[in-house]
Amino acid sequence: MDAPYAKLEQLEPGIARVLAHNPSAFTYYGTQTYLIGDAEVAVIDPGPDLPEHGDALEQAIGGRPVVAIMCTHTHRDHSPAARPLALRVKAPVIGCAPLSLESVGPRADAAFDGDYAPDRVLADGERLAVDAKVITAVATPGHTSNHLCFAYEGALLTGDHVMGWSTTVVVPPDGDMAAYMQSLGKVRKREDRIYYPAHGPAVTNPKQYVRHLVGHRMQREKQILRLVGEQARDIPDIVANAYPGLDPRLTAAAGGSVLAHLVDLERRGLVEQQEERWTAE
Ligand SMILES: [Zn+2]
Repeated sequence: MDAPYAKLEQLEPGIARVLAHNPSAFTYYGTQTYLIGDAEVAVIDPGPDLPEHGDALEQAIGGRPVVAIMCTHTHRDHSPAARPLALRVKAPVIGCAPLSLESVGPRADAAFDGDYAPDRVLADGERLAVDAKVITAVATPGHTSNHLCFAYEGALLTGDHVMGWSTTVVVPPDGDMAAYMQSLGKVRKREDRIYYPAHGPAVTNPKQYVRHLVGHRMQREKQILRLVGEQARDIPDIVANAYPGLDPRLTAAAGGSVLAHLVDLERRGLVEQQEERWTAE
């Protein structure tokens, strides 16, 4: 398949997309930047700071007023282009919070964009007008502590909270499995007709899809509990048993997800850690 890099794809009235050229084991074909609006636009998840992507976005915007450049969260495949694009098209950066300074220490890893500096942070439920229509921030911590989805005209721009091609990576210390599950419950209660994720195809059956994601995580949790119930195990041992045939590039991410489950289970008093190994209580 030829991915449509640098091309403007109109998905429905008021929602268009440009794919950035940053394919990887974590980003699928790359980051999908969304343009919301018509006479004026908001840009959601400007993506990595690649000059060709900046050019494609500037061309897609085509001189229209840009009311906001918005980021769902501050992973390096989402937010680094925010400030360069803001300078190109003279627009404010409005959206998720930066990780606080102390958290850009141990809570952040190389995947985080520590330079992200928004002009305005949106809290849960805060709104922004584009063409007299409304974009509403929906706080969805879990994948990262600062993650927001954006609701617009019955569509939910889900960033990395719900992706169209793979389950979301949740890695402690900033990623939090309990928060992630709660945020899945939160979007499941909404009546959005479609999800547009930052990676992968649109999700046209949101409620069913989220129910499936919740079920998948609960299965994974059960499986981890069973494995550490059999004997004390370290994380590589759990990954080897729980993810047979895993792409080796994803071993570290799978280990992070297992740790996220274990941290959650430990908080609930169901497992305990002795040095590198975990056992069921
Ligand atoms: Zn992310």
